[in-house]
Amino acid sequence: MFDKILIANRGEIALRVIRACREMGIQSVAVHSTADADAMHVRMADEAICIGPAPGTESYLNMASLIAACEVTGAQAIHPGYGFLSENANFVQIVEDHDLTFIGPTAEHIRVMGDKITAKDTMKELGVPCVPGSDGGVPDLATAKKIGEEIGYPVIIKATAGGGGRGMKVAQTAADMESAFMTARAEGKSNFGNDEVYIEKYLTTPRHIEIQVFGDGKGKAVHLGERDCSLQRRHQKVFEEAPGPTITPEERAAIGKVCADAVAKINYIGAGTIEFLYENGEFYFIEMNTRLQVEHPVTEAIFGVDLVREQIRVASGMDMSFGQDDLEINGHSIEVRINAERLPNFAPCPGKITAYHAPGGLGVRMDSALYTGYSIPPYYDSLIGKLIVHGRDRDEALARLHRALGELIVDGIDTTVPLFHALLEEGDIHSGEYNIHWLEKWLEATYG
Ligand code: ADP
Repeated sequence: MFDKILIANRGEIALRVIRACREMGIQSVAVHSTADADAMHVRMADEAICIGPAPGTESYLNMASLIAACEVTGAQAIHPGYGFLSENANFVQIVEDHDLTFIGPTAEHIRVMGDKITAKDTMKELGVPCVPGSDGGVPDLATAKKIGEEIGYPVIIKATAGGGGRGMKVAQTAADMESAFMTARAEGKSNFGNDEVYIEKYLTTPRHIEIQVFGDGKGKAVHLGERDCSLQRRHQKVFEEAPGPTITPEERAAIGKVCADAVAKINYIGAGTIEFLYENGEFYFIEMNTRLQVEHPVTEAIFGVDLVREQIRVASGMDMSFGQDDLEINGHSIEVRINAERLPNFAPCPGKITAYHAPGGLGVRMDSALYTGYSIPPYYDSLIGKLIVHGRDRDEALARLHRALGELIVDGIDTTVPLFHALLEEGDIHSGEYNIHWLEKWLEATYG
C-alpha cells in the first residue's frame, strides 16, 4: 500500500479522496493554484503545494508541475479525481515513466475509450449493445446521406473526438443532413482537432442509464448496478439516482453482467462507467468514462462501499474487497448538483460565501468544499456541492431531499438550490416519468 498520495484536483472531489486516504492511514498531498491558496482541500490535506497560477491550464493541468510536486513531497501515486487530467492517456504514460502510480485505468484503456468510434467498436466486439449506426467513420456527405436513408431519420452526427456535448448535431430529415454533417465536422475540428464523424440513429425519448463497473486489472470485475441520470441541462447531469426508477432487477442483472464481463475481458482496472441510452426496454451504449464519476456517491449509498478506497486498493496491487455476490442494493439514493449559478440562465456566480451551513441527519451526505468566508474563484467549474440522500425507498429519499435542501444555507452567492425546490413540486419527478429531454422542456416552460 502507498504511504502518500497526491491529489491532482480541487474542490469537493479533492476532499473526497483526502477522506479515503485518511481512513486508510495514507498521507495526502493537496496541490493548488495561487487562486486556491485558501481552499478547503489545501487546509484538509496533510501537505499542500502550489503548482502554478490560477488558470487550470497552468496549474491543475500542468503535468510537469504535478510530477515535480510528487518528487518534492515523496508521493508515490496520483489520484486524478474527475475532469482535469483524469482521462488523459499521455498523462498516465508520463506518470508511469516517472515510476509513479496513476490511480485509474491504463493509458491504453483511456485511449481506446476516449475515441468514440474505437470505443463503440470495442464494446460491440465485447457483446455490449450499441445504437444502430454507421460502421465507423463517415468520409463524406454522400455516404452520410446514404447511411441516413438506411437507418432512417432522425439521426445524430457525432465527432469521434467529441465530449461534453460538443461536436454532435441532429438531422431530423434528409434535408438537414448537409448542415448537420458539416457542423459536426467543423466542431470536431475546431474543438478537438479531429474532423472524423460517425452517425447514429437518434433516439427520441430515451433515459440516460449508466452502469458502474469496477475491475481489479487481473481479469476480475463486478458491476454495481445502474444510475439514472436522465435529468440533464445541455447534456450536463443535474439530478442522479440509484437504482433507476424504471429498471427491473432482471434488466439490471442482465446488462450488469454484460458490462462486468466486458471489462473483465480487457483486464480493466479501477472504476469505470458504461453509459447507455435506454428506450423501450433496450440499452444502447453511448460511451465509457474511465474514471470516478461526479455521481458515484449514489452508488456508494445503496451498496455501502467506498469506491475511492477500492480504487486505491487495486492501484496498489491489492485485490478488490468485495465480489459480485457481496453486492446487494439497500434502499434508494438521490444526488443533486449544487452549482454557483444564477437562475434562470444558469450564469456562473462566483463570489464570497457569507454563511454556509450543511444539512445533516439520517441518510444525508453533503460533499462540498465550501466554508463561511470562502471566496469561490471564477476560474473553475461551477459545482460547489453535492447533496446526497439515502432512504429505504424512492419516496423516503425524495422526502429526505426536500428536508435536507431546507436545512442547507449558502449565503452571498446565487446557487441552483431553488431549481431543486421547484423540481420537487413536480408530479413527474415523484412518479419518475421523465426522459433526457424532460428538464430542458420544463425549464423552457417554467423560465421561458
Ligand atoms: P459526450 O461525450 O459529448 O457527453 P455522449 O455520446 O455521451 O457525448 O452523448 C451525450 C448526450 O447526447 C447523451 O446523454 C444524450 O443526451 C445525447 N445523445 C447521444 N447520442 C444520442 C443518440 N443516438 N440519440 C439521442 N440522444 C443522444
